[in-house]
Amino acid sequence: MKLLILSLLLPSLLMGQDFSKVQIKTIKISKNIHMLQGAGGNIGVLSGNDGVFIIDDQFAPLTKKIKAAISKISRKPIKYVFNTHWHFDHTGGNENLGKSGTVIVAHENVRKLLSKDQMLKVFGKELKASPKVALPVITFNSRINFHLNNEHLSIFHVQNAHTNGDGIIHFKESNVFHMGDTFFKDKFPFIDVQHGGSLKGIILAAEKVLAMSNSKTQYIPGHGDLADYQDLKNYVKTLKDVQLRLSKFKRNNTSLKRVLKKKPLEDLDKTYGSGFMKTDKWISIVYPTL
Ligand SMILES: [Zn+2]
Repeated sequence: MKLLILSLLLPSLLMGQDFSKVQIKTIKISKNIHMLQGAGGNIGVLSGNDGVFIIDDQFAPLTKKIKAAISKISRKPIKYVFNTHWHFDHTGGNENLGKSGTVIVAHENVRKLLSKDQMLKVFGKELKASPKVALPVITFNSRINFHLNNEHLSIFHVQNAHTNGDGIIHFKESNVFHMGDTFFKDKFPFIDVQHGGSLKGIILAAEKVLAMSNSKTQYIPGHGDLADYQDLKNYVKTLKDVQLRLSKFKRNNTSLKRVLKKKPLEDLDKTYGSGFMKTDKWISIVYPTL
């Protein structure tokens, strides 16, 4: 099974992606908040007189294009980048940004993970320790706030969700969240179990954000398009339903092999299983941890 997962995921995610063809799309969310889509995790941009604050930075080969897209929004320098978690499709631009003076901010565990060589076993991917200039220089444990561009940014940690170091950003004045990879819109979220992630934690994180929301809240997911309140509600509902279905097997000590044979989530293949996590792969990652 491990080999199967590897062979299915490697081509799309890890083998030489051609970044020269990637275009950065800018989506306006509010007067001073934009979302950028290219390759890798969605980028959030807060702009204004105090300088630019961005959330995540995708891959190193895209930094120039990302900066070009941001310069169309604001001529101010990129003062801060916040990493929602340690994954390479969200932190790949850290080194370039760090070198040009952007202050990198992240959860304490993001710095720890990026500081050392890591092996993402589920993809058989080795990740070398980041150079010093690519590491977060400001870290936090449970909460950190930023006050700039007339916006109160409240950033909080959610435990054992997508990883062991997720930060969710709440733009309070604008009623917007950037949820990092705790939210894959309409898709099964990859869960980095090896580095502390869990389905239970992902659900709790999304429920926490829902409880802080209202019907007009907008969400930048880690992957997928800009989402609204109903989208996040559907995501939580689906994941809870899936958790319930898989837990029933778990209680009967059913082996993973047998669970996969029974295809308990087949009805979601064309929706939630149509993204980067196919249904069987996703069950293989999540089931052993329930
Ligand atoms: Zn991730």
